[in-house]
Amino acid sequence: MHKLFFKKKFDQYFLKDHNIAKKIVNYLSFENYNTVVEVGPGLGILTQYLLTNPCNHIFLIEIDKELISFLKKNFPISKNQIIHRDFLKWNPEEIQLQNFAIIGNFPYKISSQILFHILKYNQYIPECVGMFQKEVAKRIISYKGKKTYGILSVLVQTFYDVKYLFTVKEKAFLPTSNVKSAVIYLKRKNEIIYCNKNMLFQCVKIAFNQRRKKLKNSLRLFNYIPNFYEIPFLNKRAEELSVKEFIQLTKEIENRK
Ligand code: SAH
Repeated sequence: MHKLFFKKKFDQYFLKDHNIAKKIVNYLSFENYNTVVEVGPGLGILTQYLLTNPCNHIFLIEIDKELISFLKKNFPISKNQIIHRDFLKWNPEEIQLQNFAIIGNFPYKISSQILFHILKYNQYIPECVGMFQKEVAKRIISYKGKKTYGILSVLVQTFYDVKYLFTVKEKAFLPTSNVKSAVIYLKRKNEIIYCNKNMLFQCVKIAFNQRRKKLKNSLRLFNYIPNFYEIPFLNKRAEELSVKEFIQLTKEIENRK
């Protein structure tokens, strides 16, 4: 019966292990928020555990029309909270959402873009629990000097404290997944980041796209800045800079504009 629903193009791998579903939902703290946005609810295995607490406000964002009808039929959630949309094109301001957690067993093909979308609206999102491909999860939690350290590590960790919760086997899904998965927890940092977000993103992306090069070479694009060479860290490579140092570097570039 479930077979009807599998769609490769939407990256559909439905979690079938209820203990794992419960565990994922239980990581939400509900500290200072009561609204949860679930990305890609599928057949609703996480949704059903989100609904066990009547105080929760839940919004579901699902791209597959058939699943939208299924969810509307099977879950006692107001119809306007079941949103038929590509999450990457969804803007929380459309429905005046300003303080909510994100949960999801994410479609893996677009998991980096999902993270970037969360970062775009980080001021509204204090917390996130999500399932990723294990290899991506490792990149999210990585730190300087490691091979897996890169754009995702720096940008996510600028705004969130990250925690690797647990690994999930291929067999926990229907159909069986081709890769191992992992659940990650993000908690927004208390300190406010005083550097320009766009510039930080630009700087980190350019730096890691040529990760072997010294920053003074890879960041040459910023060369319109007159006293560029006085900026610290330029003799290092992207993979040698900590998250804090990337923030500092961005501030330095900004100050010289
Ligand atoms: N959470 C469910 C389904 C996971 S599979 C479970 O654990 O069983 C990934 C889900 O994301 C599918 O339901 C798929 O249709 C949905 N999806 C894929 N791309 C999407 C997008 N861009 N926006 C919203 N949902 C998407």
